[in-house]
Amino acid sequence: MKYRVLIADVISPDGLAPLYSDGRFEVHERPGLKGDDLARAIEGMHAVIVRSSTRITRESLRFANDLQVIGRAGVGVDNIDVAAATERGVAVLNAPSGNTISAAELTFALILACVRRIPAADRSMKAGEWDRRSFTGIELYGKTLGLVGAGRIGGEVARRARAFGMRVCAYDPYLTAERAGTLEVELATLDDVLQRADVLSLHVPLTESTAGMIGAAQLARMKKGAVIVNAARGGVLDERALADALLSGHIAAAGLDVFAEEPLPPDHELRTIERAVLTPHLGAATQEAQLNVAVEIAEAVRAALADGDLTRAVNAPAIGGEEMRRLRPMLELCERLGRIAAAMVDGAPRHASIRYSGPHDGALRPIASAVIAGVLRNVVGRGAVNMVNALHIAESRGLEVERSRVGAHGPYEEFVEVRLGADNGEARVAGALVAGRHPRVVRIDRYRIVVRARGPMIILRNRDVPGVIGRVGTLLGEAGVNIAEYHQARGQAGADALATIHTDGWLPDELLKKLAALPDVLDVRQVDLS
Ligand code: NAD
Repeated sequence: MKYRVLIADVISPDGLAPLYSDGRFEVHERPGLKGDDLARAIEGMHAVIVRSSTRITRESLRFANDLQVIGRAGVGVDNIDVAAATERGVAVLNAPSGNTISAAELTFALILACVRRIPAADRSMKAGEWDRRSFTGIELYGKTLGLVGAGRIGGEVARRARAFGMRVCAYDPYLTAERAGTLEVELATLDDVLQRADVLSLHVPLTESTAGMIGAAQLARMKKGAVIVNAARGGVLDERALADALLSGHIAAAGLDVFAEEPLPPDHELRTIERAVLTPHLGAATQEAQLNVAVEIAEAVRAALADGDLTRAVNAPAIGGEEMRRLRPMLELCERLGRIAAAMVDGAPRHASIRYSGPHDGALRPIASAVIAGVLRNVVGRGAVNMVNALHIAESRGLEVERSRVGAHGPYEEFVEVRLGADNGEARVAGALVAGRHPRVVRIDRYRIVVRARGPMIILRNRDVPGVIGRVGTLLGEAGVNIAEYHQARGQAGADALATIHTDGWLPDELLKKLAALPDVLDVRQVDLS
């Protein structure tokens, strides 16, 4: 039998070479189908590959009885109903790295367009002028580029900036000192980067922690006359605040390829501001990037169908139905243990050790994947990591994962312990199915506790002296925060203690800072376990 692959968008034969050149595959190119025609075309196919024009909806999948894989030639999977695919056990694969260079080059094009005022000068030429006074720019040589996010694209932008003779500093709490060294990038706090940057360039994914991360307060911290570029994701930068900063002249120019709402509405204020250089999400719009992502996705689809390799999957249908049902409570707990461990350390996670004690032979790998999916959740972006691709992403980021199965552990039939080492510090978290059924966090660092892993949770370390619980309760009460559960654990009387506090809502950073500043409080972390 041959694997049948439907190509539902226009993709060059060169891009599809990994499939055309492999005798095990039968390629059917039928671009441009919609509705019922698309659903019928998918019937009997083992894989379908799309770019961004074709939408794979729940309806398109209604006859997809043989379908195992949907491949998206590009990063975002917004044009695919991932939930519907997952329900049918269809893996959705993407091609995240093929457009890195193109996105980095566009970033540089925007930087140069801003500092040398090329779009404005071009407009003036087209208007018949020869104006050599209005467009005096600045050199990049000797200036400082501030990066927010230094992953694949940020790293390539850094290399190019170094070639221009720029200094580069970066805020990326998950970047290892080693990689920073290789890139000749100085790691700094966000505040530092904002204050030092002559050009600020954003390269973070859109996550809970990056949404709106550059707003009025952050722009105000920047040097007068600085330039800002965003070719990452629209929601990271507050467009209203940027428009104000451009109009006041505090920010000299901005280069934007991505917007909170795309397409950018025709009457959007940014379109009227001369010093805003705008492009319609062109980061990946080069011949090379289109070819690279096509080859990348064709290879990923081939590996998925022929070898069962689902490391490029963005959804998680990889474990068979029966096993999945048995393991689900434990896997959900493990993902949350990963989130807690990540919240307890600072800097890039470098090493994770996962120990499982329990009856399920095949559980160790999915358990490790679930833990790592939790650890990386805030590192690589909302929805970008799951059990299927977590270990692959960990490897590519230099996070070493060690997993082992150990003998029976105390009273628990099923028990998992996670140790996470990061650039700064180590965390230890354990969970268990209590009474065989109830998933609970049973240890944080050296403290024994038994708490549910759900909702927003604060982990607070304090000196074990009278009055701390009262002060914490009063502060949260005065801030209108309701405490759902408060568990205190301690080692020896009078030494240190640790509390887990479940609250009815997410606490703003200022409130966390106030908690941390209370007398006898040593450390405060917040983690989203919803
Ligand atoms: P990546 O995952 O390789 O790098 C992202 C980096 O951001 C990581 O190093 C991560 O540690 C860091 N990070 C995560 N949360 C952070 C936080 N709160 N503060 C600071 N740093 C944080 O991703 P990439 O491939 O470099 O892509 C970067 C961005 O560019 C993404 O948003 C992606 O969607 C976007 N992108 C845009 C285009 C375009 O057409 N304009 C093309 C490709 C990618």
